[in-house]
Amino acid sequence: MTLAVIEPATERVMAEVPRAGIEETDAAVAAAKAAFPAWRAVAPGDRSALLRHLAEALEAEAEDLARLEARNAGKPISDARGEIAMVVECFRYYAAAPERLLGQTIPVTGGVDMTFHEPLGVVGLITPWNFPLVIASWKVAPALAAGNTVVLKPAELTPLTSIELERIGLDAGLPEGVLNVVAGPGSVCGKRLVEHPDVAKIAFTGSTEVGRTIAAGAAQTIKRVTLELGGKSANVVFADADLAAAAAAAPSAVFGNAGQDCCARSRILVERAGMDEFMAEFERQVKSIRVGDPLAEETEMGPLISAAQRTAVASYAPDGAPVAFRGEAPEGPGFWLAPTVLAPVSNSDRAAAEEIFGPIACVIEFEGEEEAARLANATIYGLSGSIWTRDGAKALRMARAVETGVISINSNSSVRVSTPFGGFKQSGVGRELGPGALEHYTDVKNVYYAT
Ligand code: NDP
Repeated sequence: MTLAVIEPATERVMAEVPRAGIEETDAAVAAAKAAFPAWRAVAPGDRSALLRHLAEALEAEAEDLARLEARNAGKPISDARGEIAMVVECFRYYAAAPERLLGQTIPVTGGVDMTFHEPLGVVGLITPWNFPLVIASWKVAPALAAGNTVVLKPAELTPLTSIELERIGLDAGLPEGVLNVVAGPGSVCGKRLVEHPDVAKIAFTGSTEVGRTIAAGAAQTIKRVTLELGGKSANVVFADADLAAAAAAAPSAVFGNAGQDCCARSRILVERAGMDEFMAEFERQVKSIRVGDPLAEETEMGPLISAAQRTAVASYAPDGAPVAFRGEAPEGPGFWLAPTVLAPVSNSDRAAAEEIFGPIACVIEFEGEEEAARLANATIYGLSGSIWTRDGAKALRMARAVETGVISINSNSSVRVSTPFGGFKQSGVGRELGPGALEHYTDVKNVYYAT
């Protein structure tokens, strides 16, 4: 059986790859299990060196990987280059981790007490189609650094760069069986990883709906689970902000990756006194977004990932929806959808309550800090968000008041390799990236030595 991989900008098949099923998943788990004892025994300095080699090998192929990702995921080449650069940075960052996986010595009576962070064994990594290789790297790099072996299951729609990662890893010297990729359906291969008795942990990024089934499935074998799920993040713009800067930055914060971003600031909360000025500049910016061929250097937004995704997203702006303004989109083949701004919208409207995962933003009016925090928190999600104001104390009060894993002040940045990322509430469990990521790929062992 093969898997036909579609290029969303052309709707044509760009590659056919073998389609994995239960048998291939079980074989990958068996290979990872067999490779684990030797991999965990690799000296920390040597494991570091292997991860650094892998970073260098990825960097050497960065442009090819970026083009492959841009075509397969339909993202602008400039974005894809940024993502592959982050993949390299992520492997470099965690290459330093094996020699820094420190335990504690704890004062006790009658002996010496010490802790070790032991690898879990085989870990199953399940990734989505919106940021295929970069999200894989957030999981693979700390998992390997901690001494685990890995089975990575990319989304069926975007398996190509993960398949390349497996090849590049072997070429860079990773032992056979340490990093295995199975490209097949989530309902078959992903589910099998979740159920498999030899898989110690699942790290998942994807929808909250599938995240719930993973948490439930993992409970059967008490697997460790980290989940990075959906979001409905608020971009809170106070009237005392630099409104021109907030409006100039708002489009990429919600229409970046064609809105297919769990961190998308898809609810733009604007204080009443600043609304007119904000909206005038926001409209100018949205209408100037260049939507088109992912491989063209000037492109700022590509197509959606699939016809089904476009249909689902478009259902949030049906005829009669309060469309304030729209950007452009090409005609012809490709899953195109113009960036669309809905206003005025109530926070309880469907478009403001559900994760759209496409280029539709809602603008919601508020008055004062208390209402801003209340609206920002009136969601089942809590992944990301922004606060725009010139009042530093208000910015910090709001940053503490918003129930979210990640928030930026006068900026819409969400993710850095060196800082923790993850969600509150139904946006997830656990944190990726940053210095603490290895905690989620190890268990603490306490050793007492009687003296
Ligand atoms: P899904 O949750 O459907 O898929 C994510 C991954 O899980 C894919 O690899 C998929 O495989 C796999 N999968 C699907 N069903 C199962 C199952 N029963 N058991 C195990 N694995 C399974 O999400 P989408 O691909 O549709 O991505 C969009 C959603 O992901 C959005 O709603 C968004 O909120 C969320 N997301 C969250 C992110 C975050 O960091 N918080 C980042 C990116 C996306 P396959 O597709 O091959 O069937």
